Amino acid sequence: MNAVNTSAYSMENVRICKKCLLRDLAEEDQKDLKKYLAAIKPEDRASEEVYEMRLGICRKCEKLAEATCEACGCYVEFRAYASYSRCPVKKW
Ligand code: SF4
Repeated sequence: MNAVNTSAYSMENVRICKKCLLRDLAEEDQKDLKKYLAAIKPEDRASEEVYEMRLGICRKCEKLAEATCEACGCYVEFRAYASYSRCPVKKW
C-alpha cells in the first residue's frame, strides 16, 4: 500500500479537501485506487454494504485527512475494502 502514486497531491491544479476520499478525485486520478482494490482477492473483499458503511464512518472521523487515516497511515478505501481489516481505533 505504500507504493501508491501521490503525484496527484503535488499537482498545483488538484485540490483535495481534508474529508475527501480517493474516489472523490477525478477519474484520471483514481487509477491507483482501482489498481490496489483489484489486488485484493474477491474472497477477501468486504461486501458493498459493509464497505460503504465503513467509509461513511471514516468520512465523519477526525482522523481522516486527505483520504488517509492518521491513526494507521492507510488510505481508508484500501483498509475498508478488505473484509479482514479493522479500524485501528475500533470505530468499525
Ligand atoms: S479507519 Fe477508523 S480511525 Fe481511521 S479514519 Fe476510518 S474511522 Fe477513523
